[in-house]
Amino acid sequence: MVARLLLIDTPGIRSFGLWDIDAQTLGGYFPEFADHLSGCRYRDCTHDREPGCAIRVATDAGHIARARFDSYLRMLRE
Ligand SMILES: [Zn+2]
Repeated sequence: MVARLLLIDTPGIRSFGLWDIDAQTLGGYFPEFADHLSGCRYRDCTHDREPGCAIRVATDAGHIARARFDSYLRMLRE
């Protein structure tokens, strides 16, 4: 998992779309997401624009720190 993240951080590799494959891996680095993942409508939810995302709901409700969610989205979209 760590090796894969290092690969993704290497310029040029991102353009091959590895980042998309690893949204789940990225989520693994945000353990506070874990309690809410089962509430997402889609099992492969990236918590970005999907409808019925429980992570966004939990962030809006204050259960997940806004700053943490923002940094997740930033990494997801890089
Ligand atoms: Zn979600």
